[in-house]
Amino acid sequence: MKHNYHYLLVGAGFFSCTFAYLARQRGLRVLIIDRRPHIAGNTYTEDRDGIMVHKYGAHIFHTSSKPIWDFVRQFAEFNGYINSPVANYRGSLYNLPFNMNTFYGLWGCRTPQEARRKLEEQCSSEQLHRAPENLEEQALQLVGRDIYEKLIKGYTEKQWGRACTELPAFIIRRLPLRFTFDNNYFKDPYQGIPGSASGGYSGICAQLAAGAELKLGLDFLAERDSLQNMARRIIYTGMIDEYFGYSEGRLDYRSLDFRTKTLQTDNFQGNAVVNYTDAEIPYTRIIEHKHFDIGSKAIDLPQTVVTWEYPQEFGPGTEPFYPVNDQPNQALLQKYRDLAARQSGREEVYFAGRLGSYKYFDMDQVIAEAMTLFQKLEGGPKLLQD
Ligand code: UDP
Repeated sequence: MKHNYHYLLVGAGFFSCTFAYLARQRGLRVLIIDRRPHIAGNTYTEDRDGIMVHKYGAHIFHTSSKPIWDFVRQFAEFNGYINSPVANYRGSLYNLPFNMNTFYGLWGCRTPQEARRKLEEQCSSEQLHRAPENLEEQALQLVGRDIYEKLIKGYTEKQWGRACTELPAFIIRRLPLRFTFDNNYFKDPYQGIPGSASGGYSGICAQLAAGAELKLGLDFLAERDSLQNMARRIIYTGMIDEYFGYSEGRLDYRSLDFRTKTLQTDNFQGNAVVNYTDAEIPYTRIIEHKHFDIGSKAIDLPQTVVTWEYPQEFGPGTEPFYPVNDQPNQALLQKYRDLAARQSGREEVYFAGRLGSYKYFDMDQVIAEAMTLFQKLEGGPKLLQD
């Protein structure tokens, strides 16, 4: 069969844009489609009242991979933003991630020795002598009861809509624990945000996708019959369960409701991210967008754009943001993976990205996944080390 394109990439997020860039460099013909009216998926940034807004929640680029850091910086200037969220627990403020500033705020510990002693005391009654089986067990072993109850439990249960005892332990291992006065939320050596002068993430994706054909506002599943024979291979970055018509059941996703306002004040909260960690306040965090765009003119504007982030169940009219990687969902995912493997003999369809892989990927991991799949399908030099 004669195909118009080598690749049809469904979804115009970071995965597809990276893949399209690599394919275009080899002279391959690529079509990218997305049912939303814009590129860049959930990393999409847009201007609102002179301020670059992360429309689908804060995206801070961080990676430990030098090749990936060098790759993204070809397409934008990254500012030196270092994520240092503040936690508000019932009106008291604490630094995150858990570090000497937090231990001082909670317990008055002034030295690493004092803090270690305090943490040992907090954790000693929580030791299980077996691997932790859920997020609560993991958190209690790592940081003990005080931090768990003040800074983790309420936030996590709001974010995921589930008890911490029902959630996988790995989620909390994303957060570092350190005995220095260092509020950097991430452990990675490379971090920053593409500033508004570079067009933000939307600007990066537009450059990556240059040369590919791009059709926005086009829903693959609604136009499946006409689209699926257009390319030799399809890479699907939407929800894997939706692709298969939910034949095995629905995977759970967590969604977010963003309530964004422009306020007539130059500085609303003094930080880009403030987390609300108690269970009573219904939102998990407040984002003040201008503080992400450091070094830009936005900081001097008399107005500010602020977003309240309310977690919610995923359903009709909402966007899927986080895969819920608990046991039942992992089992269901396996059924879809089996279906995908069975059908790949007939049609060449690959599933990728946060939704296609049903993995809690960060942006750098999505880029790595795109490079790896490209190399697997098209050969050539390895783009990343194993
Ligand atoms: N978390 C927490 N308290 C906080 C921030 C995060 O307990 O103040 C936990 C929570 O379980 C969350 C996980 O850490 O699901 C990962 O948070 P992160 O900020 O990395 O999530 P993302 O930015 O991807 O939404």
